Amino acid sequence: MEHEQLIVFPRRGGSVFAPERAKAFGDLLQRRQDHIRKLQWSIVAVYLFLLVIPACLPETEVRAGVFDSLARFAEALFWGVWWPGVILSMLIFGQFWCGLLCPDGTLTEFASRHGRGRKVPGWLYKPALPLLLFSLITFYEHSIDAFHSASMSLLIIGGTSLASLCTGLIFGRGKRVWCRFVCPGAGIFSLLARCAVLHFKVDRVAWDAAPGPAPGGVDCPPLLDVRRLKSNEKCNMCGRCSGHRQAVALSWRWPGEELATLEPEEVRGWEAAGILFVLIGLLYAVAHWNGSAWHRQLLAALRHGIGDTAFWQAEAPRWLFSRASAHADLIDALAALASIVGMTFALGVLVGAGLLFAARGQKKLADALAYALIPLSGIGLALGAMEYSLSILADNGVSAWRVLPWLRLAGMSTGLIWSISIAQRLLRRWRGHSERQTFVLPLFTAVAGLLAAAYQFAPIPA
Ligand code: SF4
Repeated sequence: MEHEQLIVFPRRGGSVFAPERAKAFGDLLQRRQDHIRKLQWSIVAVYLFLLVIPACLPETEVRAGVFDSLARFAEALFWGVWWPGVILSMLIFGQFWCGLLCPDGTLTEFASRHGRGRKVPGWLYKPALPLLLFSLITFYEHSIDAFHSASMSLLIIGGTSLASLCTGLIFGRGKRVWCRFVCPGAGIFSLLARCAVLHFKVDRVAWDAAPGPAPGGVDCPPLLDVRRLKSNEKCNMCGRCSGHRQAVALSWRWPGEELATLEPEEVRGWEAAGILFVLIGLLYAVAHWNGSAWHRQLLAALRHGIGDTAFWQAEAPRWLFSRASAHADLIDALAALASIVGMTFALGVLVGAGLLFAARGQKKLADALAYALIPLSGIGLALGAMEYSLSILADNGVSAWRVLPWLRLAGMSTGLIWSISIAQRLLRRWRGHSERQTFVLPLFTAVAGLLAAAYQFAPIPA
């Protein structure tokens, strides 16, 4: 009995990883929703300022004096700090960004409190919709080089915010229907967050044993069934359910625990395809097509084949292909788009075929192994975003490219070990479901190693 009391009472001054610290932080979030709301509206104000003001200024003013500094600061903050920071935070801690800080989440929830409150229609229940939207937007924003244009950033990022506001005005009563069913970023975040070391853990026995009647339902913004919550997939980590019925607590877990304990019925074919073709293929392609030998050869071949007609030498429409038009002409634009599409599919197909070979043709097992690649490809994605930060620094006269190989080596080593350890645990658990497992882990390690090498030696953007 004495021993039990020692465990139950919180220790003072223990490690930050102590269970009671995580639980206390979750409870703090639950108690301080008023402060969180103020923080969220401050972020909305800064976000709108940095997004709208540079885009509203005439081009000549944007490029001069204080406005030039503001536009560069906004670019550096959005793409150089925010994007890599969000990716890493998702991978390590879960979707706290979504629940606590995201301006789109704040706007859609606010609109939903004052909107029409309609039921979520059946056509929004398409689990692959966020990933599909994310792919289309990523492809488009990289084609038009939205990063370097204030008006294009406003069009894409601001357009997404407007869509979240409209979704809130129409659907749900004070909920985040946008975040749960539509948000394109959530398509990727929901994959990364499953590696996180923090999650809201629900004790079903304590929940059911709590004295009734239930003290009001949980105000879960993305409309989750908290009692049955098992995954970080859609949890926004807002903390509102913390302590509910003495059964919900923010808790630590082993990195990648959720992936290593996947059951066959939890593995989805469309999601495995999303990991291969979007998280790995598309996000590698958009970060590294420019400057690749693939792109140079394609461009040379196109110029040699069709480059001498007036039509192909016309400047590409700026609104559609601003990156290409900045370089040259329609052929340049075509080569850029073909490079992105080609690299996306080549990488997705090669890694998918490698996993199928490793799993000795067992599709379900190959799909499960695709999930084990999330840490490696998530770190690859974060590295691609950091490389963009380095290019922003280089544009401002600070060259830090020398750190890149070491940064990649550290990231890829961590990602490789992390992915292999998940695959190892997953295979151990799946021994009962799948008979033919000899050599699966060594072959998976070879596939993951080749992927890590692709990130390590990826071309640096020209
Ligand atoms: S389950 Fe819902 S209420 Fe609980 S932290 Fe996640 S998003 Fe918030």
